[in-house]
Parts: sequence; structure tokens; C-alpha cells
Amino acid sequence: MSKRSTMLQVDVRRGGAVHLCPRAGTLVAACCGRGVLELPENDRITEDAGLVTCRR
Ligand SMILES: [Zn+2]
Repeated sequence: MSKRSTMLQVDVRRGGAVHLCPRAGTLVAACCGRGVLELPENDRITEDAGLVTCRR
């Protein structure tokens, strides 16, 4: 699997927070406004708002 696809998958087993995918043209998580490149390594990004576990 490619690194790109891994970034978009949700793996709750790793224990990281799940953030909402950035809006088009931005590089910050839509849930909390944090830069996606600054998120902890275990955190994940999803396009499904129902899977987001991020606590602002
Ligand atoms: Zn977030």
C-alpha cells in the first residue's frame, strides 16, 4: 500500500486521534484548525465526520 493511501485510512488500533480531512485548498484539519503536517504521528485523517475523534 502506498503512503498516500495510508494517510487517509483510519486505524483506531494505533490510538491516535482522528481528524477531519482539510477543506479543499487548505492544509489544516477542518475539525480543529491544526496543520496536518503538525499532527502527532499516530493521528489520522478521515473524510467521514462520523469517525472523527478529535477533541479541539
Ligand atoms: Zn482535529
